[in-house]
Amino acid sequence: MRIFDPHIHMTSRTTDDYERMAAAGVRAVVEPAFWLGQPRTGVGSFTDYFDSLVGWEPFRAGQFGVRHHATVALNPKEANDPRCRPVLDVLPRYLEKDGVVAVGEIGYDSMTPEEDDAFAAQLALAVAHDLPALVHTPHRDKARGVERSLAVVAESGIEPGRVVLDHLNEVTVELVRDTGCWLGFSIYPDTKMSPPRMVELLKAYGTERVLVNSAADWGRSDPLLTRATGEAMLLAGFTDDDVDRVLWRNPVEFYGQSGRLDLRDVDAPAPTFAGNSILRGGS
Ligand SMILES: [Zn+2]
Repeated sequence: MRIFDPHIHMTSRTTDDYERMAAAGVRAVVEPAFWLGQPRTGVGSFTDYFDSLVGWEPFRAGQFGVRHHATVALNPKEANDPRCRPVLDVLPRYLEKDGVVAVGEIGYDSMTPEEDDAFAAQLALAVAHDLPALVHTPHRDKARGVERSLAVVAESGIEPGRVVLDHLNEVTVELVRDTGCWLGFSIYPDTKMSPPRMVELLKAYGTERVLVNSAADWGRSDPLLTRATGEAMLLAGFTDDDVDRVLWRNPVEFYGQSGRLDLRDVDAPAPTFAGNSILRGGS
């Protein structure tokens, strides 16, 4: 089983996770820029973070045979902090970088006017830089958040096939399925979407334009739930080809629209490295 996790925050994961992911078949990931828990107080801490997403983290992933790409944005939560909003001015420089395959995560957290502005401005950046967009849907008041997100997406003029609405569930999938946007599902250990629930959705709606991710981050989450979903699909009668479509070809197709996915030699064996510690990159 080859797996492309289209939404995972590796910055918050350990090398043990990379080893387990590689052993489970995860060969490529996309790491969206997000909120780090502790509020950031200025633009500098964003630029250091973005530099890490396009520099250090791909290097670290590469040592485990995992190909790493990123999406870059001012996340919805911090869009409300006036200290963070000037990040919008530095984004164009990052949206030109090779490892950046979309604008994201953008969208709503609390649906404030500040979030409206940042969301629309960043969809305009996606259009200007010819990139797809990863839209986070809020965890509270989810249906209203999805409806409002779809309205902002429609107003932006971005092609719906270049947008994924993520963290969908049984209710919100109905709102998105006929819009032409991609359907993103985050599989969590004990809340929200689980592998068996995901299998039921795939039975109901098919495998087209569906992205399945672990969204693993600092919180309780599991980077192997993509694999668990593939196994649950097989047990339910889906074919190997169905699993490959959902867990590999769909994310390749979606992020491939950036023209920047680098999956050359992704089938090569993981590099071996001396000693028991990760290489330190130049030091
Ligand atoms: Zn996320």
